[in-house]
Amino acid sequence: MEFRDLKQQYQVLKEEMDQAVLEVMEKGTYIGGEPVSTLEQKLAEYVNTKHCISCANGTDALSLVLQAWEIGSGDAVFVPDFTFFATAEVVAYCGATPVFVDVSKETFNIDVSDLEKAIEEVLEEGELTPRVIIPVDLFGLPADYIEIEKIAEKYKLLVLEDSAQGFGGSFNGKKACSFGDAAITSFFPAKPLGCYGDGGAVFTDDDQLAEIINSLKVHGKGSYKYDNVRIGVNSRLDTIQAAILLVKFKAFKEYELDAVNKVAELYRELLNEHFATPQIPENFYSSYAQFTLILDSEKQRNELQEYLKSKNIPSMIYYPIPLSEQKAFDYLGEAKRKTPVTKELCKRVLSLPMHPYLTKDEVKTIADILTEGKTKNVY
Ligand SMILES: *Cc1c(COP(=O)(O)O)cnc(C)c1O
Repeated sequence: MEFRDLKQQYQVLKEEMDQAVLEVMEKGTYIGGEPVSTLEQKLAEYVNTKHCISCANGTDALSLVLQAWEIGSGDAVFVPDFTFFATAEVVAYCGATPVFVDVSKETFNIDVSDLEKAIEEVLEEGELTPRVIIPVDLFGLPADYIEIEKIAEKYKLLVLEDSAQGFGGSFNGKKACSFGDAAITSFFPAKPLGCYGDGGAVFTDDDQLAEIINSLKVHGKGSYKYDNVRIGVNSRLDTIQAAILLVKFKAFKEYELDAVNKVAELYRELLNEHFATPQIPENFYSSYAQFTLILDSEKQRNELQEYLKSKNIPSMIYYPIPLSEQKAFDYLGEAKRKTPVTKELCKRVLSLPMHPYLTKDEVKTIADILTEGKTKNVY
């Protein structure tokens, strides 16, 4: 069994996929071209934003937005402590200071009351200027943008939605990647909508921001490529990846998103009695990048992972270390905030195999092993 079965997905889409890739090679346009602009158009239409700007990966997408907003030294950017490293890495990379905010145990997403507390603390200390909130749509579930946008408005902050794992989710009928002042996603192979390499995109309704990012991603180009008006980077989505994504996006919309939600439903039905399964609050819809349990203790979690391994069931710990405890952030020293929920989650979470091609039998097998082990006290 695979944790996320991309080989199986390829087998299902093989005919269309091979054709799409061959077509790019035969046409000879390998950077830019029709597949890239068509993909951008289709994704913008799907999430309902004015602009979609593709780029080389999700990390670059975050960096491009921060760079366009001229975030840098002396600025505070608020990030959840429980997420993938890139969310905070880009903040430090552009010279600003990441301020770590705790998450909610119910949703794994940024805790809005701790967010407001963090902003107040920064204002009180008076050393940094609060500028941006980067909420993460962790494991496929959008963050609470109603509350986040209230706080952003109150303190005049920009919101950058990190939906690297969230594409396909929604909140109050509004799609992930359409919240805040700008949003990003990642097409890393294991994300809900993945390509066969690295890829990413920025989404926004802001014409001026779109124009700056379109320039930044191609060496700060002006009217054309050899007219350079600002210092930028080289961050483009390959034409082949765009062609692959067009095929995958069709499957994603037509059945994968629905299929992965059915898998989640079945997991919950079979596991709810014995385990803390992810609960989706009313009016939210998840694209289930992960299906993550919270176990009773670190010991139980680790023993369960060993037990699953002995039965050939893969599982992963997302994430084992709070961002604020990563060595790379040692330089922040005593300034780091306390994030007790994140610390606890890092010890107790375990993600199970999750993808749209998991069969009912496979889910039942996993659930049986989990339940049997628990009732027999083997972990
Ligand atoms: C994967 C991920 C990123 C980075 O995306 P890449 O395409 O791998 O650069 C950023 N934020 C979160 C929350 C992610 O999961």
